[in-house]
Amino acid sequence: MAIGAGYAGLSVAKTLSERGKSVLVLEAHDRVGGQAWTEHFEDGSYEDYGAMFLGVQQPNMHRLEFGIPIFDVNTKGNSVLNYRGQTFELFWGLGTSQVSLLHALWYCKSGFSFTVLGTIDEGAQKELVVGGGQAIAHALAKQLGDAIRYEEPVLQLDQRNESHVLHHILHVQFTPALPPQKGLRGEVVSPDGYMGLINDVSPHDGRYGMLVEFIAATKAMEFLDMGEEQRRRIVLTELGAGYGQEAASPVKLKIHTMMQEKWSTGCPVAASTPGTWTSMGHWIRKPVD
Ligand SMILES: Cc1cc2nc3c(=O)[nH]c(=O)nc-3n(C[C@H](O)[C@H](O)[C@H](O)COP(=O)(O)OP(=O)(O)OC[C@H]3O[C@@H](n4cnc5c(N)ncnc54)[C@H](O)[C@@H]3O)c2cc1C
Repeated sequence: MAIGAGYAGLSVAKTLSERGKSVLVLEAHDRVGGQAWTEHFEDGSYEDYGAMFLGVQQPNMHRLEFGIPIFDVNTKGNSVLNYRGQTFELFWGLGTSQVSLLHALWYCKSGFSFTVLGTIDEGAQKELVVGGGQAIAHALAKQLGDAIRYEEPVLQLDQRNESHVLHHILHVQFTPALPPQKGLRGEVVSPDGYMGLINDVSPHDGRYGMLVEFIAATKAMEFLDMGEEQRRRIVLTELGAGYGQEAASPVKLKIHTMMQEKWSTGCPVAASTPGTWTSMGHWIRKPVD
C-alpha cells in the first residue's frame, strides 16, 4: 500500500504491481500528481504549478516508460542576471539558516552538483514534458487503474498489530510514535528580487510564450501577506526589469501558492532543518515495524 499518489507513491505502486503484488494507493486529494499539478485550459494551453523540468540528474525518470514526449527548453539567447547578493533559497524553498548544510550537500550530490541543479543547458532544467509535469503522474495512474482511491486521507498508521489498521481522517500520526523527528532565453536570475528565478516554459509547438517565476522562502512569506494588487504590481515590475516594458503587459498572469495546498503545504522539495540528519538520519531508511 502506498500513501499519496505523487510521483513517489505512484512509482512504488507501479513497481510492486509489475512484480505481481496487489497494490492500493490512498490519495488525500481528488487528483494524482501531488506537487506535480498542471492546469489545462479550453484553448489547449496549460500551466504547471509544480514539477515541470526533467534534467540530466534524473536518469531513472528517463528510463521509466511513460510514453510521453519531452522536449528541450529554449537555450538560445542570453540570460538576465540581476545579481547582488547570494542565495540558495530557491533550491529548498527555505532561508539558508533553516536548511541543514549536511542536507544541502547531500541534495547537491544526489543531483550531481550544485551547478547541474541550477542549470538549464545539460542541467536540471534541460527538458519539459509535453502536456506538463502532471502528465507523468496521469500515465502512471492509468497503469494502476482502480488501485488508486481518491479523497482518502490517511491520519493514523497503527503498526502494533498484524492488521496494520488505517484511519482515514486528517493529519498523519504514527502508533507507536516514530522517533522524534528578446535575444533572451527567458531565464532571469534575481536573488534580490521577489522572483528569484524566471524560466521559459513555452510549449514545444511554440503556440504561445510562457514564463514561470518562482518566489521562495522568506520572499514567499512576505508575498503571502500582500494583497492581490500589490502582488501583481511586484510581478509586473520585475518582469519589466528583466525583459523590458513589453513583458509587463502579459496576456495572462496567474499566481499559485503551493504553501496553501492542504496536502502539499510547501515546495519545491522536502528539506531537513539543521541537526535533523545528525540526530535522526539513521532512522530515515530503517523499516518501522
Ligand atoms: C513549484 C514547484 C516546482 C517544482 N519543480 C520541479 C521540477 O521542475 N523538476 C523536479 O524534478 N521537481 C520539481 N519539483 C519537486 C517535485 O514536484 C517533487 O519533488 C515531487 O513531485 C515529489 O513527489 P512525492 O510523490 O514525493 O510528493 P508529493 O508530490 O508531495 O505527493 C504526495 C502525495 O501524498 C498526498 N498526501 C499527503 N498527505 C496524505 C495523507 N495523509 N493521506 C493520503 N495522501 C496524502 C498528497 O495529496 C500528494 O498527492 C517542484 C515542486 C514544486 C512545488
